[in-house]
Amino acid sequence: MITRLSAAEIAREIAARKVSAVEVAQACLGRIASLDEGYGCFLKVDADQTLAQARAAQAKIDSGEAGPLAGVPVAVKDNLSTEGLETTCASKILKGYVPPYDATVVSRLKAGGMPILGKTNLDEFAMGTSTENSAFQVTRNPWDPTRSPGGSSGGSAAAVCAEMAPLGLGSDTGGSIRQPAALCGVVGFKPTYGRCSRYGLVAFASSLDQIGPLARTVEDAALLAEVVTGHDPRDSTSLPDSTIRSDGLKKSSLKGVRFALPKELFSDSNEPGVLEQVQAAIETLRREGAAFGEVSMPSIVYGVTTYYIIAPAEASSNLARFDGVRYGPRAEEGAEHVGVVERTRAEGFGHEVKARIMIGTYALSAGYYDAYYLRAQQVRSRMRREMDAVFQGCDAILSPTSPVVAFKIGELSKDPLALKLLDYCTIPANLGGNPGVSLNCGFSGGLPVGLQLVGPAMADERLLQIAYSVEQALPEAHRRPPVP
Ligand code: GLN
Repeated sequence: MITRLSAAEIAREIAARKVSAVEVAQACLGRIASLDEGYGCFLKVDADQTLAQARAAQAKIDSGEAGPLAGVPVAVKDNLSTEGLETTCASKILKGYVPPYDATVVSRLKAGGMPILGKTNLDEFAMGTSTENSAFQVTRNPWDPTRSPGGSSGGSAAAVCAEMAPLGLGSDTGGSIRQPAALCGVVGFKPTYGRCSRYGLVAFASSLDQIGPLARTVEDAALLAEVVTGHDPRDSTSLPDSTIRSDGLKKSSLKGVRFALPKELFSDSNEPGVLEQVQAAIETLRREGAAFGEVSMPSIVYGVTTYYIIAPAEASSNLARFDGVRYGPRAEEGAEHVGVVERTRAEGFGHEVKARIMIGTYALSAGYYDAYYLRAQQVRSRMRREMDAVFQGCDAILSPTSPVVAFKIGELSKDPLALKLLDYCTIPANLGGNPGVSLNCGFSGGLPVGLQLVGPAMADERLLQIAYSVEQALPEAHRRPPVP
């Protein structure tokens, strides 16, 4: 069955004319049609558009001008603008909004001949860790549909996990690619800040947001990263020469690779089952020749607090544009401007988004700016310095991705603090702008456990190479979920 294959394998089958881009798209659409009712990964599927893109891709392939993943379809998180395809950020305030342009990453998919399978569910405006904050539906974890796939890119992660899509795109502000990858047992990669254009990504926290791939193998994640990254003059934070090259990946041993283990990330706030699996993976990698050294990064313990000041502060400013005038539905009653804006926002935003706008506005307000926002920025600088110092002596920082395995839907939704603490291991890479990858390293109670590797800024290729070698060494990297 074609949907079981990796993206690299599908691309090879297409190139060898064993299957066409249209047949691949049809196979994925068929699987979505038969399975997604049970998982809720997709908010929007437009089969006609997908098939038209697949036909265009096949034409490119036939004329010999196609990219390496031509014909391989992708599930796209619904905070990425897609021309002519509704983009809601899983929020009522954008219901019915059809962007007039494509995000840069979406244009690059299209240019690479990669059809878009549909728009995937997320926590509203990517604020959350469980994909339960969507205004429209809950997404379920293919390993156990009573559990969350993680979030906020839960729709893309679950779609890739359940083999509805060979590849997905997500966004990661505090862990939203890596954490759902961990909970679904797939690979999630957040590039160095600035390597992937944010043009057309609906902004959450602009200094932290980064787009990246979800995939079933490290190779696939690297291949997709190559398609979507690279300098873009339309994003002022886009770095020069930022394309991530995937052609250097090779089967190489871990001999001489040095991993730092920050003791702050191995505390007993991790579930015992998670720690056991990560420790077992460390032993396996040690036998393969990798070296490990314990380090301390004291400011990590302030990471969650720091993030939950900076991210809401930026969000409060970014989300000011949703006033019912330019995008989405408008509260019609009454004519005066302020009242319309107030009612539109009151009706359109969900609880978590409102809470964050209020926290962010408070943190930025005149009397509190120094106490909160400025302080948080200082901690952020300090964390960066600590990370830079650690990278003087290692190739990557290794830790669990998530302190827990997939939790029951509804179990944590009443406890916003507990949910936020789940971002503990992933936030440092966002505050530092570093690349980070999560891959599966084992199972606890039958549920996947994610291993996170974080590298120095701009060392994305090296990090992916290390992740590739780690994946080869770990027997549990590619188990399939119990999905028909
Ligand atoms: N869980 C974090 C939050 O709720 C991170 C979200 C993200 O990376 N988009 O903000």
